[in-house]
Amino acid sequence: MQKTEKSPFRRIVVKIGTHSLCGVDGTPEKKKMKELCSQIASLMKRGIETILVSSGAVGVGASLLLKGKKPKTLKQKQACAAVGQPILMSLYRKLFEKEGFETAQILLTGDVINHRERFLNAKNTFLTLLKHQVIPVVNENDSTSLEELRFGDNDNLAVNVAAVIEADACFLLSDIEGLYKNFNEQGQELISEVKEITEEIENLAVDSKKESHSTGGMGSKIACAKKASQLGIPLVILPAYKENILNKYFEKGEKPGTTFLASSGALKSKKKWLYLNFEDNGEIYLDLGAKHAIDKGKSLLSAGIEKIEGDFKRGDLIKVFYENLLLGKGIVNYSAQELEMIKKRKSEEIEDILGYCNEKEVVHRDNFVLISDS
Ligand code: ADP
Repeated sequence: MQKTEKSPFRRIVVKIGTHSLCGVDGTPEKKKMKELCSQIASLMKRGIETILVSSGAVGVGASLLLKGKKPKTLKQKQACAAVGQPILMSLYRKLFEKEGFETAQILLTGDVINHRERFLNAKNTFLTLLKHQVIPVVNENDSTSLEELRFGDNDNLAVNVAAVIEADACFLLSDIEGLYKNFNEQGQELISEVKEITEEIENLAVDSKKESHSTGGMGSKIACAKKASQLGIPLVILPAYKENILNKYFEKGEKPGTTFLASSGALKSKKKWLYLNFEDNGEIYLDLGAKHAIDKGKSLLSAGIEKIEGDFKRGDLIKVFYENLLLGKGIVNYSAQELEMIKKRKSEEIEDILGYCNEKEVVHRDNFVLISDS
């Protein structure tokens, strides 16, 4: 075996896509699962704590309930997930047990991300499991999740988990070598490293609608890489079909796959949580002066508010717009009704208008996060 570098990676998330785990009819391919589990076990033995985000439950369920056809309705999808998930878990349990590790099943919904207390609780659970050398196997709670609380696809789930546990990297194992230039054309060129996700990079994804059980696609992977980058987490796409690919990544020499580097100006802890939160309680629209102030990192004051939408209360998470451009999101210090009364008015007038003044800022800069694509 090639000599390995001492790894700077302490804790990572590995996500495996449906195509890399199951056959076209959704049946799990045990050989592939065995190879994956033995790789993760050897990472754990090297001291790299690893959380597995596994797709495949819907496909496995569909192979039994729908003769391998893709579920058409949400009800069908949820039923397939409920059947497939325990089958997948029992396979993982057997395979990890052979490698000397216990497994834990964690099924997540978006409310874990949207509520800071649950977010911190989830982190503690993951860290406790890893401390006991238990390998957490994560999936979206497909069978009961409400649409508005869904992660949507497991690439996104993996990045969210990576943020929860403050991972050093997030690996997406896929059916492709990595991100290609000129995909679908002759002379394809693998991009080994992406420093910044520009529009040019985003335009490289040429996903077509698929008939299979996978939901992601390269577009979703690039969007996830962008999110991960803001969170200070590098994201790596690796070819799942290559032998021992995860361990190879940690060896000296040229890195396989595509690595999207983390942004140097990554967000601080609480802002990371704000950034991930996908609650939608309402919107505040600003005038141009307020937009400039927000862009410079100042707090939002009542004078710069033009319009309010939605019925939110103090302490809710709201989105902030200039015209139809999303600027960011933050925790609001006043309800929608209160803001209707104090919008376009100076901070000093708040007390006279409302009879009290919670804070002079409508959204404090410490509770606001700019969205990078604005
Ligand atoms: P998985 O299900 O393994 O997570 P996805 O199907 O979500 O994988 O994403 C990988 C797919 O993205 C590839 O199989 C390929 O069809 C598609 N793709 C689109 N554009 C590109 C590109 N520029 N480079 C590589 N793959 C691309």
